[in-house]
Amino acid sequence: MPELPEVEVVRRGLEEFVVGRRIDTVEVLHPRAIRRHEAGAADFIARLTGATIDGARRRGKYLWLPIGDDALLAHLGMSGQLLVGPADAPLSPHVRVRMTFADGGPDLRFTDQRTFGHLLVSADGARLPSVIAHIAPDPLEDAFDMAWFTARLRSRQTGIKRALLDQSLVSGIGNIYADEALWRVKLHYARAADRLRSGQVAALMEAVTDVFAEALKDGGTSFDSLYVDVNGDSGYFDRSLNVYGRAGEPCRRCGALIRRDSFMNRSSFTCPVCQPRPRNGRW
Ligand SMILES: [Zn+2]
Repeated sequence: MPELPEVEVVRRGLEEFVVGRRIDTVEVLHPRAIRRHEAGAADFIARLTGATIDGARRRGKYLWLPIGDDALLAHLGMSGQLLVGPADAPLSPHVRVRMTFADGGPDLRFTDQRTFGHLLVSADGARLPSVIAHIAPDPLEDAFDMAWFTARLRSRQTGIKRALLDQSLVSGIGNIYADEALWRVKLHYARAADRLRSGQVAALMEAVTDVFAEALKDGGTSFDSLYVDVNGDSGYFDRSLNVYGRAGEPCRRCGALIRRDSFMNRSSFTCPVCQPRPRNGRW
């Protein structure tokens, strides 16, 4: 599933290849892709046709393209891709929405094999689409407030990883990068959020932004080959992961074998020596 760095790679691609261009035609090839656009396909198409894309923005794992006062909002879900390519290239069976541009150049295709992603037009959403206004800023945004985040985090009676994944506290951190950041600062995912010192929280968030920056440099993590940039290329940060997906392999710091635990219907990967489990879940 794409996380913040992967979505940021896509945003940068959209900024380079579609911003400033005028949409000529819009085709909705699968209604599920626009299921969250409540006014339906005809309205979705009417709002976009003839409009010029003014920018490419992101909060957490959401992307939006401001169009006048409105915005085209995208969430990639598990397998969504926004691909820019030759307008005459054959359509893959997974293309859900296609847009052509008035300049006759490369088109934009929303491709989504598993159809968990979606697009919608948010009225007056250019600055921040209302459907994502409840999501907290992500750690790369100027709007991210470390003091606010630290205070809120330390008031939570929960494990640190659950708090990191809570989009009302901080957005954009998913399973892969939470595990990587926790390993870097030697914290177990079940450590009690309300018992962390503010210095530990600061170090953890520095690790989050470091791992994001490194992943961005490598084009993101293409763990299941479904995540690609706008040109269809995979990222290769998976080669640099220290714990995620490495169960049974030696810790790169101490040599102990990485373990995998079930966690919120997914997995958590830790080094049992660098990140000892808290006793009684409280520490
Ligand atoms: Zn270790």
